[in-house]
Amino acid sequence: MRLSRYFLPVLKETPSEAQIVSHRYMLRAGMIKQQAAGIYSWLPLGYRVLKRIETIVHEEQARAGHIPLLMPTLQPADLWRESGRYDDYGEEMLRITDRHKREMLYGPTNEEMITDIFRSNVESYKQLPLTLYHIQWKFRDEVRPRFGVMRGREFLMKDGYTFDVDRDSALHAYNRHMVSYLRTYERMGLTAIPMRAASGPIGGDNTHEFLVLASTGESEVFFDTAVTDLKLGQRDVNYDDREQVAKVCEEFTTLYARTDETHDEALFNAIPEERRKVARGIEVGQIFYFGTKYSEAMGATVVTADGSRVPVEMGSHGIGVSRLLGAIIEASHDDKGIIWPEGVTPFPVGIVNLKQGDGATDAACDALYAALMAQGLEPLYDDSDDRAGAKFAKMDLIGLPWRITVGPRGLAAGKVELTSRRTGISEEMSPEAAVARVAEIYAGV
Ligand code: ATP
Ligand code: MG
Repeated sequence: MRLSRYFLPVLKETPSEAQIVSHRYMLRAGMIKQQAAGIYSWLPLGYRVLKRIETIVHEEQARAGHIPLLMPTLQPADLWRESGRYDDYGEEMLRITDRHKREMLYGPTNEEMITDIFRSNVESYKQLPLTLYHIQWKFRDEVRPRFGVMRGREFLMKDGYTFDVDRDSALHAYNRHMVSYLRTYERMGLTAIPMRAASGPIGGDNTHEFLVLASTGESEVFFDTAVTDLKLGQRDVNYDDREQVAKVCEEFTTLYARTDETHDEALFNAIPEERRKVARGIEVGQIFYFGTKYSEAMGATVVTADGSRVPVEMGSHGIGVSRLLGAIIEASHDDKGIIWPEGVTPFPVGIVNLKQGDGATDAACDALYAALMAQGLEPLYDDSDDRAGAKFAKMDLIGLPWRITVGPRGLAAGKVELTSRRTGISEEMSPEAAVARVAEIYAGV
């Protein structure tokens, strides 16, 4: 993408309404625009990152054998009367009446609707296990929407629902989600720690929240610092292998890590003092096993191997897709701007032309652009007439992890400069070597 043809409305001033760094940078980098309290347009740069995050979520869900579908944002109130949640949900639910006076709502979550889909279509245990999920906009009329996309009213969530014939299979589905979420967050460059959580209005007893440590997080968290060293890495997990999956979960949930809702002072104090930590975290996901709460209320049953009919065992599992942009920036930035992890960056690399209009420099940039495109690495090429300093400041603000700088002096020696946004370290090399290096970096992402 050439910057001269793109839409990147970067702001010079720091917007006064933004209280935390991710919100400030998302506004300044022209990623979002607020349209109403807690409701945003996703401008092209923000939209690219949102799509990257969605792609990673889809890929990891596919790897775990989970099936995507798409349910609507608007739901009939009657479905929610069946579970009893229409009245329980309270003011957070946006209630709408259509022209025929039918009561509707903008979905804050989809347990009822997916249970309805299930009961209309599944009869036998032979059709299980089944995990269906979607990535869809939600609406929750939060009292205090704030921090930009972190606590919006309209926000994008991945929500997945598991259906199993018995408790053991349902717990495997829970564990499978935990592992797939760990991998999902790691690919985004995040350390998200599973913490035992309280169940809240969805109900159930087995539940973990995934928290990214950040001083601006809304949750107070208590943990053994050794938990932050755990990594899933490249290990091969067979999601059908119950034992293996359970072992990974055990590894990640044995060390103490809890939110204030489930915190236990005595257990915490048993950790060696130098490893005890109280901090703040951002909830980027949550998994629940809640058994037959909805299936019983809504008559979602299956016929088992012995011919009896039982309510299906369920769980629901969410990732805060739009919140993740904020969380990633909170975890990865400096005073110049965002530092995108390679996994989610809107463009893998930027090209800065130091002498726009100079025939040889322009030609070198064009060749570099074509060579990167040929590798599937679409660069953002700043082909404007701005001064070098302004170009660098813009690239630093929008946070592309790699920058290739092209100028007449370097080109005279056959060199361009490759710079890491994270370390600030630059290296001179031939344009071909720069392309090869960038390709190598992204091959592992
Ligand atoms: P919170 O405690 O932050 O209000 P929640 O526990 O009510 O969130 P869940 O029902 O667990 O939310 O939803 C799954 C995920 O959706 C959360 O882990 C979070 O990442 C995201 N999420 C929830 N509410 C919002 C919101 N208002 N804005 C953006 N993301 C949200
Ligand atoms: Mg939650």
